[in-house]
Amino acid sequence: MICENLGINQSGNLTFAGRDTVDLAKKYGTPLFLMDEERIRHNCRVYVNAMKKYFGAGSEPLFASKAASFKAVYKIAMEEGMGVDVVSCGEIYTAKSAGFPMEKVYFHGNNKTDFDIKYAMDAGLGYFVADSREEIDAIDSIAGEMNICQKVIIRITPGIDPHTYDAVATGKVDSKFGFAIETGAAENIVGYALEKKNIELCGFHCHVGSQVFDSDVYFKTSDIMLEFIADMKAKFGYEAEILNLGGGYGVRYVESDPAIDIEANIAQVAERVKTKCSELGLKVPAIKMEPGRSIVADSGLTLYTVGSVRVIPEYKNYVSIDGGMTDNPRFALYGSEYTVVAANKMTEECDFSCSVVGRCCECGDIIQENVKLPSSVKRGDIIAVMTTGAYNYSMASNYNRLPRPPIVMLTKTGEYTAVKRESLEDIIKNDL
Ligand SMILES: *Cc1c(COP(=O)(O)O)cnc(C)c1O
Repeated sequence: MICENLGINQSGNLTFAGRDTVDLAKKYGTPLFLMDEERIRHNCRVYVNAMKKYFGAGSEPLFASKAASFKAVYKIAMEEGMGVDVVSCGEIYTAKSAGFPMEKVYFHGNNKTDFDIKYAMDAGLGYFVADSREEIDAIDSIAGEMNICQKVIIRITPGIDPHTYDAVATGKVDSKFGFAIETGAAENIVGYALEKKNIELCGFHCHVGSQVFDSDVYFKTSDIMLEFIADMKAKFGYEAEILNLGGGYGVRYVESDPAIDIEANIAQVAERVKTKCSELGLKVPAIKMEPGRSIVADSGLTLYTVGSVRVIPEYKNYVSIDGGMTDNPRFALYGSEYTVVAANKMTEECDFSCSVVGRCCECGDIIQENVKLPSSVKRGDIIAVMTTGAYNYSMASNYNRLPRPPIVMLTKTGEYTAVKRESLEDIIKNDL
């Protein structure tokens, strides 16, 4: 199986975090998001320990919470000693409600409104990751009104194509994010920010993309960013204290995805950073990384119930489930791969090729194509989609007025509902 927390028990059912998924589907109903708390903690610890060990004090991982944002996950990240990234007031509010220490929060996004900026400063948020000249002006003037000096990191575009999907490749020069080194925009904005009275420039950030398996990408990125730091030191006498290398380590959605040894990767990147710093005559900055997917993806599993099986002889077969693009829009958005199984028929041969489709009124409402299921698949069977902990719940919608599924967190000793199932009243609660 693609992750250690998956298995098959004596009843031939899929297990997740050691629990029978078919029993859980019966108990909580479907669609259902399950999350494995121990796996989230394990993934956090891999980063926290490796970054401390190889990069040293001041270096730490920040959980990119857009991957999964709800109170329980911020609480877990806090307990494991992570910082967090947020991209909206909604995420700030959720983190704050969970008791997350605001000084360890980094505020991202290419368009923070004045309202967002005030809200974040009022909340005492640690760092802004500034993404435009307009934002730097707004931070400076709002911080001035509030009589504070706001810590800021500038988002830089190192100009790297991480050889991944274009839609999630954000480190390239033509990206909507950041200031490109190549065009001179990065250098100009550093000079500009250094002049601002109510801004304390703390360093630089970059993020080259997602689902990255190749450690070469981080070598190249850190080389370029450290050269940039050295260049800024020479030009402005300013040496960055923080270098944030972004997120993006890949996870296994399907068998053919490689497994990454994150600790070994971090060790190699640290080696490279230290060597480069001594070549350039820099002190080693506090390194931050921002894993999102690799913290929560394999900690999640979605369960659905089959409603119908449609066989169109000589053409195509469809298995319809009771959720769809409303709880997992990733195939519809960018054709993401997933491993899909019949959780109550794990020992049967899978010789029925089909598309597993959702219940929305959209032909594009597809969870996965070319899925192999047992030919006995029928109404009432439980379908499991693996590795759904990242960018599923956080991208979920109420299209077709479908209530969002609950998140049930499985723990070492039991389970708890981290997010309850939306009710029909919830669906109309803002309708006047
Ligand atoms: C999305 C994002 C991340 C997390 O990426 P993953 O692929 O989920 O690890 C980190 N940093 C920034 C700026 C992002 O936009």
